[in-house]
Amino acid sequence: MGEKLEEIDVLIIGSGPAGYTAAIYAARADLKPVVIQGMQPGGQLTTTTDVDNYPGYPEGVQGPKMMEDFKAQAERFGTDTRWGVVTKVDFSSRPFKIEVDEKDNLLAKTVIISTGASAKWLGIEDEKRLNGFGVSACATCDGFFYKGKEVVVVGGGDTAAEEATYLAKMCSKVTLLVRKDSMRASKAMQKRVFDTKNLEVLFNHETKSINGEPGPIGVESVTAINNLNNKETIIPASGFFVAIGHTPNTKLFNDYLEMDENGYLIIEAGSSKTKIPGVFAAGDVADHVYRQAITSAGTGCMAALDAERFIADNK
Ligand code: NDP
Repeated sequence: MGEKLEEIDVLIIGSGPAGYTAAIYAARADLKPVVIQGMQPGGQLTTTTDVDNYPGYPEGVQGPKMMEDFKAQAERFGTDTRWGVVTKVDFSSRPFKIEVDEKDNLLAKTVIISTGASAKWLGIEDEKRLNGFGVSACATCDGFFYKGKEVVVVGGGDTAAEEATYLAKMCSKVTLLVRKDSMRASKAMQKRVFDTKNLEVLFNHETKSINGEPGPIGVESVTAINNLNNKETIIPASGFFVAIGHTPNTKLFNDYLEMDENGYLIIEAGSSKTKIPGVFAAGDVADHVYRQAITSAGTGCMAALDAERFIADNK
């Protein structure tokens, strides 16, 4: 005889703003949601410092503190938050079968996927050493702290073009390092880049080192290398922004769900519905355009309401 598996109404995979907002709504609807926190409990915001653009915090808030608040609010209404990583899903029939940490199996009437996306990094040691001390992968999150200062951005796609032009509005100078002799960004975005006076593009340039000290000093300069002639240039900078793309955390769902060419989940416009009834997606995992805590929270709310309606309709 097989063991009896635990059955859950709403299983939420991932614990960023989307996951916890879904949990708050589902818990208040008495659906006793379970959140499986994943590899990075609290999500991407736990790696940032000040968050100044989330409504409701007039003085700003530290990213990790904000995620503790999200969690506490979800738990106040009975959310069951669990350590663990979902290692396998079976969406072939309902209730869905979810494996956690390669051992525990759960059954879920509905699943909300809020596994987020992870910024890609160059992979050099200085990035880790100075992360949070001038090194960032999110201009809209951290750009404000470099008002009037010089910064370097790396990348040649739409993200880099967008981040560089965004930063140019507040920084005294932005240097964009593009490793090829051309940018991959759309023509319209490139035009914005080239039309921005305080934004200099260095083609065929890569990052050799980010110079500075963790702590109050932070990033002081960036050593770039021309990959055609190996000539090095030291660029004064207080901020270093990596903008070489994001990887959505969707590998787990390859066999079941539709994704775009970059791996982001495809959902029905204006809802959180994937093509499998009862499986919903919220947050960055299905959004490569906005990628903000507030937009993630909004779609988390949508997913919980969609799950609630689905359960009511499928009693
Ligand atoms: P992309 O994959 O389009 O571009 C990544 C860029 O980073 C490329 O120029 C690539 O260089 C460069 N790069 C990658 N690795 C390194 C490295 N190790 N060192 C230096 N440079 C590196 O990612 P994006 O995030 O820019 O865009 C992803 C998708 O999202 C795209 O479809 C884009 O159009 C879309 N997007 C749309 C926006 C909008 O419409 N407003 C805004 C942002 C993104 P190389 O070209 O040499 O490979």
